[in-house]
Amino acid sequence: MKTIITQIIVTVQGEGPTAGTPVLLIRTGNCNLDCSFCDTKWSNNVKSKEIKKFSNRNKKLPFIVDENTIDDFINYLNDNFLNKFRIDTTLITGGEPLMNKEFVGSLIYNKETNLKNITRIEIETNGVLLNDPKDYLLFFHWDKQIQLNISPKLDPMYYRSEKIKNVDDIISLFDKNRIDSFERILKDTPTTIDWKFVYSKSAEADIDSFITQVRNVNNVYIMPLTPDYTKYKSEMKFLEDFRKSTYDALEYCMKKGYVLSPRMHVWVFNNFSHRDEYIDVMKGKE
Ligand code: SF4
Repeated sequence: MKTIITQIIVTVQGEGPTAGTPVLLIRTGNCNLDCSFCDTKWSNNVKSKEIKKFSNRNKKLPFIVDENTIDDFINYLNDNFLNKFRIDTTLITGGEPLMNKEFVGSLIYNKETNLKNITRIEIETNGVLLNDPKDYLLFFHWDKQIQLNISPKLDPMYYRSEKIKNVDDIISLFDKNRIDSFERILKDTPTTIDWKFVYSKSAEADIDSFITQVRNVNNVYIMPLTPDYTKYKSEMKFLEDFRKSTYDALEYCMKKGYVLSPRMHVWVFNNFSHRDEYIDVMKGKE
């Protein structure tokens, strides 16, 4: 296990069924996909060779957590975050956190030490790596409720595999993952699965195909496409375009009966210089 951690903050879940819930957010570095609209590119090109290990002397992000330091890392989270805030949910996000299944498993259950007061763990994932019949073992510990927020990416350009040539290939991949992984997770562990889709008019037909062709895609949340931050100089213009994008997503929800998911973090913490979310807000008050 060698997991790069790029961000640890206390913030709120911005999307999906638990939007607004205070969380301890842990972001792992790097991703198995390469989406053009990704808003965490800064966290996706980190090289483990250039990063130091987490230790009692090195807590400067990014750092690497491995099997020798996971207990100290959990104690660090307890001392510096969970003892100071009233939080019962940890949000593990990325990049793609399931590139680090062992690490995710260690936060759900650890023989030596445990995340203090945490009763729920949410995992943000693109779902591609939920492909192993043994995945359910990660979520098999009944002292915590697990919520998998799966956000499939439907453009084959984002996949680094030559096997993925069109949306039908993506649908086949997820239907196989359903058989190999999702179904047993749902059947045998205290896990719920929510599906989140980034909506744009041009993606509508693909979202429809995915939802109708991959069986058991329930609990659907539709999110507006966030405009590319790098193309804007004016924050107001960005927010205006984001509002229009939200309106398109809302129209789709009303047509199909899906739930619109806000992206609270974009509205609340949007910051053009660096987007450090809650910490930015706290600094502003100092
Ligand atoms: S799957 Fe998510 S984290 Fe990975 S590149 Fe796409 S948007 Fe970014």
